[in-house]
Amino acid sequence: MNKTHAKYERTLVIIKPDGIQRSLIGEVIKRYERAGLKLVGIKMVVPTQEMVEAHYTLDPEWKKKTGEKNLQAYRDKGLTPPHDDPIKQSEMILMKLKKYFASGPVVAMVWQGAHAVSVVRKITGGTEPMLSDVGTIRGDYVIDSYKLADDDVRAIRNIVHASGTITEAKLEIDYWFKKEELVDYRLLVDAMLYDTDISGILE
Ligand code: GDP
Ligand code: MG
Repeated sequence: MNKTHAKYERTLVIIKPDGIQRSLIGEVIKRYERAGLKLVGIKMVVPTQEMVEAHYTLDPEWKKKTGEKNLQAYRDKGLTPPHDDPIKQSEMILMKLKKYFASGPVVAMVWQGAHAVSVVRKITGGTEPMLSDVGTIRGDYVIDSYKLADDDVRAIRNIVHASGTITEAKLEIDYWFKKEELVDYRLLVDAMLYDTDISGILE
């Protein structure tokens, strides 16, 4: 089978402990499913803090990118960030994330479909819930902000993790799932989403 077609793109989603505690597992799954994405792997895990650290440092650039994003968010709102060092800022975020993520069960999933990484990020919404678009998971179900979470010394509780790039997705899927835990299968709706020839509907 030719697996180079865009419809085979995969991404990792994790429903974080707050998503589970707020009974949003079904709601989250529904939103990716109704877009036409295909669930190809799913499991419930209680992560250790070591697993959380490993997950976030799979991408060597994550610390720099996340720290810069956080500091810029302060400046964009006319606020003075606590300091100017992105690495120091993301080290602090990581400490909080480890406590948050390892506090209870999470649901890890792999979703497949054309542009899966971008489509899942779009449906998930931006990192800071206060600014996430209405209609996204984070925009609809969360009222948190960087400042509120930072002042209270905790991670932003934003329901789901979703891989940020195709490279991140590959690393994260390999980290969370064994090959045999992912299923290659056809869905009937795939034909309507991807087939060039859709004749044969009328009897
Ligand atoms: P994501 O890809 O949108 O999840 O965002 P990042 O990869 O940049 O950050 C990972 C997670 O860390 C976020 O989803 C939040 O839960 C948390 N987080 C990120 N930045 C901050 C921050 O500046 N402050 C706090 N308190 N938490 C943060
Ligand atoms: Mg990220």
